[in-house]
Amino acid sequence: MSVFSRSKSPEILIVGAGPAGLILALALLQNDVPVRIIEKTTHPRIGQRGSGITPRSLEVFEALGIVNQVLKKAINVPKVCLYKLPGGTEVLKEIERATLEPTPTCPYVNFRQLGQDSLDRIIQADIQKYGCAVELGVELLSVEQSDDHTNVKILNHRPGGGGPTQQDMTYKWVIGADSAKSVVRKQLGLSFLGEATEENMVVGDIRIEGLSEDRIHVWGDLSSTMTAIRPSETSGVFTIIAGGPKFGNPETICVDEAALKEALRQSTGNRSDIKFGEIICMNPYRPQIRMVDEFRKGGIFVTGDAGHVHSPPGGQGMNTGIQDSFNLGWKLALVAKQLAPPSLLDTYSEERLPVVAEMLNITTSLLKKTIKNFNDEADLIQTILIVGKEQGKEIDVVNPHGVRAFKDRDNHGNDAFLGSKNDGKFGVFVIRPDRVLGARVQSPQGLESYFQSIFGKTEENE
Ligand SMILES: Cc1cc2nc3c(=O)[nH]c(=O)nc-3n(C[C@H](O)[C@H](O)[C@H](O)COP(=O)(O)OP(=O)(O)OC[C@H]3O[C@@H](n4cnc5c(N)ncnc54)[C@H](O)[C@@H]3O)c2cc1C
Repeated sequence: MSVFSRSKSPEILIVGAGPAGLILALALLQNDVPVRIIEKTTHPRIGQRGSGITPRSLEVFEALGIVNQVLKKAINVPKVCLYKLPGGTEVLKEIERATLEPTPTCPYVNFRQLGQDSLDRIIQADIQKYGCAVELGVELLSVEQSDDHTNVKILNHRPGGGGPTQQDMTYKWVIGADSAKSVVRKQLGLSFLGEATEENMVVGDIRIEGLSEDRIHVWGDLSSTMTAIRPSETSGVFTIIAGGPKFGNPETICVDEAALKEALRQSTGNRSDIKFGEIICMNPYRPQIRMVDEFRKGGIFVTGDAGHVHSPPGGQGMNTGIQDSFNLGWKLALVAKQLAPPSLLDTYSEERLPVVAEMLNITTSLLKKTIKNFNDEADLIQTILIVGKEQGKEIDVVNPHGVRAFKDRDNHGNDAFLGSKNDGKFGVFVIRPDRVLGARVQSPQGLESYFQSIFGKTEENE
């Protein structure tokens, strides 16, 4: 640990201790740049939330020296098992994820699964090695940019005599890693264009007996009720994603344990062998697809969900934030140590935004290609394709349900998912080159118009 990181008071305030804030803190601390990281909740995170970890995030974890802790705890992403209703026991289909072989240049090629609560604990433990601890119960109220510094108002909720106290502080840089409802983003006046999807769901963790832990169990679809139950790295603890018009109102059912368990029982086929136990956490969840038009204004930045939110399929929410923060971390470290000019920080926004603009073009062609391959009779097809300028060639058809694997010339493979609902309407979940979920769309036109609404027309799609 350096003397620098302990003795100098932080010029950088990170707001929010989710994966995006924590990764940024770790990247800066490892570069001898002290930070203050505040978190408004008074307790550590509870719940798995987005637990899929992409290979690119594993590469980031390796660079930060935490990959072994993550891999030790993480599990492989299980196969998906779809059950027929009514009854709920007859297997309609099993979908196995294609597994790619690692190579020396590409050691991480497969998704792993680890709950965000576990991941947070791993990163926090590493942060503490640098003499920094997340300050729980400390909330950013407001942020204001001056010429060469940023003024913040902070409310300290921590218990201990006299109730909450307010602090007025000054920092050189403030980073909003404060989730989709980001105070930082709103006060900066950054746009957050996009849309909420139609689905209203519940997401949370629950103890279950009688369900095997080697697969993700799925019953029904969102036109009526859909329940997906995913095992976790903790035996007996499962994550539930459930919804549909007949499931119940997410807002009310989340706070009514009996109603929730009854809805789960019915939507999984009234099976007597499945016992729903302690509800660890359960929240309403409405997937949104939104993005800022800028990641920075002066000395204030946003990262993670504060800058973009995605729908859950593809498991990109958390991973995207990790990539943002890793991108920003080394640049901010160099500028803070006066080893690089402040203009280096312009490249953060410059690099993150074009990824999406490029994705528009790439994923549109990918979408058209995928639609061409669409099998009308299948109700779920998973396709693994190359995404990137260098299109590769198909190497394998992994299973009869349409899982395909492609590799590029560097042996990289990225994902795209094509799924149809029972009404015959398909949707495509496209993954952009940095393995971030780009969009969920119903047609090539939908994809184009969605991104045009954010970035304007690009030359290629005019
Ligand atoms: C219920 C739920 C289920 C989800 N399920 C999935 C899923 O299945 N798959 C998937 O990919 N993604 C999922 N996500 C999204 C995924 O969890 C996020 O993409 C990921 O957590 C983003 O990380 P982050 O660090 O940017 O933000 P967060 O993890 O949201 O962390 C932000 C932190 O900032 C804190 N904060 C907010 N405002 C302030 C303030 N003013 N002052 C101080 N602290 C503040 C918050 O308390 C929070 O701890 C889910 C999200 C939710 C809410």
